[in-house]
Amino acid sequence: MDPANTVAIAEAMFDIIDLVGEFEKPIFVSYDKSICAHSRSGQTGCNNCIDNCPTSAITSDGDHILVNNEICDGCGHCSASCPTGAIAYAMPQRSDLIGRSQVLLSTYLGAGGKNAVLLVHESSHGGDLISAIARFGDGLAENILPFSVHSTTHIGHDALAAFFTSGAQSVILLVSQKNRNELDALNIQIDLTNTFLDGMGFDENMRVSLLVEDDPDIVAENLSAIPAIKTPAIKNFTASKNKRETARLAIGNLNAMAPQKLELLALPTGSPYGAISINTDTCTLCLACVSACPASALGDHEERPQVSFTEHACVQCGLCKTTCPENAISLTSQFNFDKSALSPVVLNSEEPLECTRCGKPFGSKSAIDKVIGILAGKNPMFQTSKQLDLLKMCDDCRVISMSETEKDPMTFGTVPQTLTAE
Ligand code: SF4
Ligand code: SF4
Repeated sequence: MDPANTVAIAEAMFDIIDLVGEFEKPIFVSYDKSICAHSRSGQTGCNNCIDNCPTSAITSDGDHILVNNEICDGCGHCSASCPTGAIAYAMPQRSDLIGRSQVLLSTYLGAGGKNAVLLVHESSHGGDLISAIARFGDGLAENILPFSVHSTTHIGHDALAAFFTSGAQSVILLVSQKNRNELDALNIQIDLTNTFLDGMGFDENMRVSLLVEDDPDIVAENLSAIPAIKTPAIKNFTASKNKRETARLAIGNLNAMAPQKLELLALPTGSPYGAISINTDTCTLCLACVSACPASALGDHEERPQVSFTEHACVQCGLCKTTCPENAISLTSQFNFDKSALSPVVLNSEEPLECTRCGKPFGSKSAIDKVIGILAGKNPMFQTSKQLDLLKMCDDCRVISMSETEKDPMTFGTVPQTLTAE
């Protein structure tokens, strides 16, 4: 309901009086906290769903988020903007949405149809409007394929890219004027999809457009203005429930269809794809970034100090950057089409430092050098080279070595007599 429409609000208030009894409310989204990138160790990473929920149904809950299903209105902004797929729309699920669009487009194209324009609309908004266009005036052109969904705003760039791989020439998202103030998240998804289409050199009419309109005449005018273009051969795929896998398949197939095939595409800052780089001069291989990464994009090595990075898994949440005590990490928004993005690459590595007493590997040279630099001559316990040598030993040898010195820190000397009031 349009909050500015006072008459509609008054009518709704009267209707509420008669609404007595029980009702069932759908649960619109599912949430998998194991892949949520909201927060780690008190640092905030992704806040997309919280920032974009128009009903404030999503709140922060430590490292994760909480969805209040009683308040959730089912708009799906959270699902569209979630970089990991942790929060996912359930009416329908991603795989069903894409599968249904593939059936519609392949049926139309298989029957000899050309220049398919997918007109995505909400069942509660576009149905009557499209019916009016079909019955009056010039009618609805045969290449306009209405595609009804519960909410237009739940559609992310993964599904938008998939519509083109299935043969859509253009995609129009029809939204009611009453939702005009809640379109930021959808616009980001549209811009991201169009950035891919633009970078790949597709015809300028092969794009996603947003049409915020309630007037059938204006909608009809906009639809009739879409020129027919030469469309590439389709490249369908089977979508899964996994958002990032589905997106990579859709974007990869789009690239395979493109006039200009890309290996790397720079994306706007804040996009959910990209790389990180580590300044190896300042990185001490403390591995705080590996522990902070919620997407398993960063990994370590069992036997040596090492950070490796898998680009495809990185959602650019920035938690590694904010967690790094040395400010050694920087982020770059980009999409890497090369297969190398799927495998880990080593960003920094060192031979492990061996204990000077027993020879056991116990840490990284950079980290120990950094600690020595901080403590040497400044801390009363680390004034001499002999005292600093303790830092080059493993935990066990350090304790043994300290107990062997003349000044055993465990020796307290004579305990002073306890003073009492007597
Ligand atoms: S990762 Fe998804 S569910 Fe987690 S905070 Fe971001 S948008 Fe919300
Ligand atoms: S590598 Fe950094 S930016 Fe990428 S997902 Fe992991 S913590 Fe986030």
